[in-house]
Amino acid sequence: MTKTAFPHYDVIIIGAGSIGAPTAFYLAQSGQKVLVLDAAASAGQGSNKHAIGGIRATHSDPAKIRLCLRSIDIFSTWKERYGDDLEWHKGGYTFVAYREREEKILKDLLAIQKSLGLNIDWLASDDMLEIVPGLNPTNLLGGTFSPDDGNASPLLTAHAFYKRAVQHGAIFHFNEPVTNIIIQGGRIAAVQTAQATYGTDVVINAAGAYANQVGRLAGMEIPVKPDSHESAISEPVERFFHPMVVDIRPAPGSTNYYFYQHLTGQIMFCITPSPNIWGYDTRETSEFLPLIAKRMVDLMPRLRNLRVRRTWRGLYPMTPDGSPIVGWSKEVPGLLLAVGMCGQGYMLGPGLGEFLSRVAIGSVLEEDSLILDTFSPYRAFTGQEKLK
Ligand SMILES: Cc1cc2nc3c(=O)[nH]c(=O)nc-3n(C[C@H](O)[C@H](O)[C@H](O)COP(=O)(O)OP(=O)(O)OC[C@H]3O[C@@H](n4cnc5c(N)ncnc54)[C@H](O)[C@@H]3O)c2cc1C
Repeated sequence: MTKTAFPHYDVIIIGAGSIGAPTAFYLAQSGQKVLVLDAAASAGQGSNKHAIGGIRATHSDPAKIRLCLRSIDIFSTWKERYGDDLEWHKGGYTFVAYREREEKILKDLLAIQKSLGLNIDWLASDDMLEIVPGLNPTNLLGGTFSPDDGNASPLLTAHAFYKRAVQHGAIFHFNEPVTNIIIQGGRIAAVQTAQATYGTDVVINAAGAYANQVGRLAGMEIPVKPDSHESAISEPVERFFHPMVVDIRPAPGSTNYYFYQHLTGQIMFCITPSPNIWGYDTRETSEFLPLIAKRMVDLMPRLRNLRVRRTWRGLYPMTPDGSPIVGWSKEVPGLLLAVGMCGQGYMLGPGLGEFLSRVAIGSVLEEDSLILDTFSPYRAFTGQEKLK
């Protein structure tokens, strides 16, 4: 097989989701000939559109912090730079504490987060009630507040990156699932779909919850499993709070939950089920609303009269340690993994897309080694990030 037998691209990205769309934009912007193949009908139709849009840099892991700080820069300046409204809202994040256990976890983390330069502080209960009026004051000990975090629209974001990538010459083929990856002379040579074969030097696996299936096309096992999470949106009500509110108290059926009020007034909320619900089933369940409604009304009693408009269920592409897998395959030269984003792929997307464009063209910065080491496909997968 010669390079001239098929149309040839510098980079082929499999997946036009939270990660693939920004990656295509940054690669095309740097002059690469890029093809993006997606099984779905348009950009951002996988896990991306199931995300509720939370964006924070306040993690405990320095690599995630660095990428998400960059993402926040990109989200918050996109409209002024490119004109597209992503519905970015700098509402901040709060993690609330009602028991000494959560207070200690959050304060221990706060010390690490401050040492890493994040804008985050502890608020006593009175100050917390000013920022999130309506929180149940009984036993409220306070919580953390990081005002620079925020939220935006995952669908508008994917579409904006798609549109701007196309302007820079990237080609997107939708409704075209990748069915085979051809390796020749021990390295990536081409990608096949039912429609055609495309030659390339570099394939980026950005297939989200389907990352392992795509990995297998190149003979590689990737430890990413689909993990179901449900969400909901209410009717719109007058704005009464801005930050994402996260409650990390475990309860029967869930380890935590989080919610915020969207720019347009609706409350969006989401739960982390316990135990995990593995698999590709994205049908909504009748268990979700009773489970989360009880928790939310306990935490914020005024939500009791709010009507829920819609629920949905999507997939976290989970890894054994809750951190992404990013880096070159050693077994298949030319295959770059950008998978296993767990519950944070939307917020990581812009920063990671820019980073991946540097990796793919071999122009990494000195500080990029922190990210490559932390998210290495060859790490031990033994740790757990504290606020994953
Ligand atoms: C309920 C819920 C709430 C969430 N809330 C947040 C949040 O607030 N903030 C946050 O940061 N994250 C959140 N997430 C997580 C976030 O949605 C994911 O981490 C992120 O979307 C993963 O991005 P991705 O690009 O890896 O995958 P995706 O966005 O799923 O993109 C992968 C793409 O690959 C395509 N594909 C798959 N197989 C093939 C193939 N063989 N050939 C071609 N194309 C293929 C798919 O069609 C898809 O478009 C949430 C997730 C859920 C389910």
